[in-house]
Amino acid sequence: MAPSLRCYFFCCCPIRGGSILGVPYLDPLAGLVVSGMILKAGVHTGYESVLELVDAAVDPSLLQPIKETILQVDGVKGCHRLRGRKAGTSLYLDVHIEVYPFLSVSAAHDIGETVRHQIQKSHNQVAEVFIHIDPSYSVESNMDQKGIWENIERRNSDAIPRQQTAEAIVSCIISSHFSKKMSLEHLMLHYLQGRVLLQVEVSMSPEIMIRDAMDIAKQAEEEILKADSSISQVSVQLRLGQQIKQLKLPGGKNRAKNQQAQMQ
Ligand SMILES: [Zn+2]
Repeated sequence: MAPSLRCYFFCCCPIRGGSILGVPYLDPLAGLVVSGMILKAGVHTGYESVLELVDAAVDPSLLQPIKETILQVDGVKGCHRLRGRKAGTSLYLDVHIEVYPFLSVSAAHDIGETVRHQIQKSHNQVAEVFIHIDPSYSVESNMDQKGIWENIERRNSDAIPRQQTAEAIVSCIISSHFSKKMSLEHLMLHYLQGRVLLQVEVSMSPEIMIRDAMDIAKQAEEEILKADSSISQVSVQLRLGQQIKQLKLPGGKNRAKNQQAQMQ
């Protein structure tokens, strides 16, 4: 029975019954009951409105279809920490998606944007999605969960080399041991499960035999691993083609010049 109809029923029946039966105290009693019911309905509606106006947590069953949409996006290996909050009729989401760990920043960002687009296309109550991108640990699953977290904690220490330090280590080894055989072109660091992996791109003389190049690469990998115990894997790769041309950023050169002029 609808609340208004219920009120009418409880209110009018005793009042009319009271007057018909000649029982005068039924009237105020019915009044009290009806006031209580109105108060209860008012508090309930008010509470729901307040929950909608302030950020309220979302029922997990509402998030399940959104999770399914995320997992269908090409390139998404998994997702966790999917949380939602409601403000009015809008839904705000926060999610961590897992992608292949050796993707470039731009490729990972593109997957994130596709996830956002698919969610908003399929679930129109979603106003905004905050996406955090994680490397997928399941790709390298030869370590148990405890080992992964121990390594991640260790990684937070200052002992882990960053780009500049790694470049200094590798440049130093190449110039002291392999200066006539190869030169450093590019270095890419990966931080996975608390471990540091190095991809070292080098160029060599075009006259060199592939077998010799492979031997030199192996020696260089061993030297780099010896130089820093926090580096757990090194892969030396030979550059054969052209480097990918970097896009010109708007005002990039001029901005750098302006900054230099300001500093002088
Ligand atoms: Zn995460």
